Amino acid sequence: MEWFYDLSEAELRKSVTGLGLKEFVAVQLSTWILNKNIVDPDGWSNISKENRELLTENFDFTLDRSIRTDADPSGTKKFLIELQDGNRIESVLIREKNHYTFCISSQVGCALGCKFCATGNLGFKRDLFSGEIISQVILLKKELGDYEGKINLVFMGMGEPLLNYENLRKALIRLTDEKGISISPRRITVSTAGILKNLKKLEEDFPNIKISFSLNGSDNTQRQKLMPVSKKEHLDDIIEYFRDRKRKHRITFEYVLIEGLNDSLEDAEKVSKLLRGIPSKINIIPYNPNDFADFKTPSEKKVDEFAEFLVKKGLTVMVRWSKGKDIRSACGQLAGE
Ligand code: SAH
Ligand code: SF4
Repeated sequence: MEWFYDLSEAELRKSVTGLGLKEFVAVQLSTWILNKNIVDPDGWSNISKENRELLTENFDFTLDRSIRTDADPSGTKKFLIELQDGNRIESVLIREKNHYTFCISSQVGCALGCKFCATGNLGFKRDLFSGEIISQVILLKKELGDYEGKINLVFMGMGEPLLNYENLRKALIRLTDEKGISISPRRITVSTAGILKNLKKLEEDFPNIKISFSLNGSDNTQRQKLMPVSKKEHLDDIIEYFRDRKRKHRITFEYVLIEGLNDSLEDAEKVSKLLRGIPSKINIIPYNPNDFADFKTPSEKKVDEFAEFLVKKGLTVMVRWSKGKDIRSACGQLAGE
């Protein structure tokens, strides 16, 4: 039986017509499930009972199950989701003033082993299928019910999205399809530790999708100590690529600030030089503690000094004291526990 969520539009059309049904039934199905979020066949009122039965006999429409949720008073809610093979991932729903942000996972665990990150400490289990990426979005949309306002998607959950490029790509096509889930590419951010080859592919395939780059160090030597990936993917190559390519939006640089490691004003100076000439924003994320690393979060004063230094250099800076710390749903705390 085919899992509905993992099919591209073309694959779905082929399977539906293969059952002897008209092609438009595929469109109706996508509209109900992906656009209107009605997963239960009883709700598909423009499809005959007979055809609904045929469809449920031939396709699996089960969403991956949320087995636990934790909410905090700000409305941030973390979902622990069990995949069909028993592996677990996490997704986070954040309620902002005028919109919602869904933080989505792309892999079970992560192979890159960044020293400060809970997911990295798990190691790599497997890539998510495109359907498992989409299933997270539908599950979180169901949670919102009849909602008003827009949804932003950020690939900042578990995993390195650019090490699962083909499934990411297939999911992004489905997610942005106007007849389906219909999230504007401008509202989607892919966060990456910097896998240059696939970063280039992503920007070729989806020029409007936003990029967030996890910088986290002020030069390659320092970054390597925190992010082993920097041994293979040299920071200078990535920066050069960012500087050379014309794009409509600014690149966001994420910088996890860790006491005594990358939080000095010399580091800030180096960061400001590194980003010179790149249309950018920088997000300072004071380190979120997890059980795996014994790093410390810098004091508020230190964080402010670092940020102010960059502001004085003319950079756009946001300090992100993370939401959802109490329920361990902040960046770097997702461990599928
Ligand atoms: N693999 C991708 C996306 C997932 S990580 C990437 O690395 O970009 C999402 C963000 O969480 C990254 O910017 C990462 O630097 C940040 N992060 C990881 N661990 C953290 C921690 N302990 N405290 C604060 N931010 C953390
Ligand atoms: Fe992987 Fe991103 Fe965590 Fe690094 S920060 S281990 S790339 S999930």
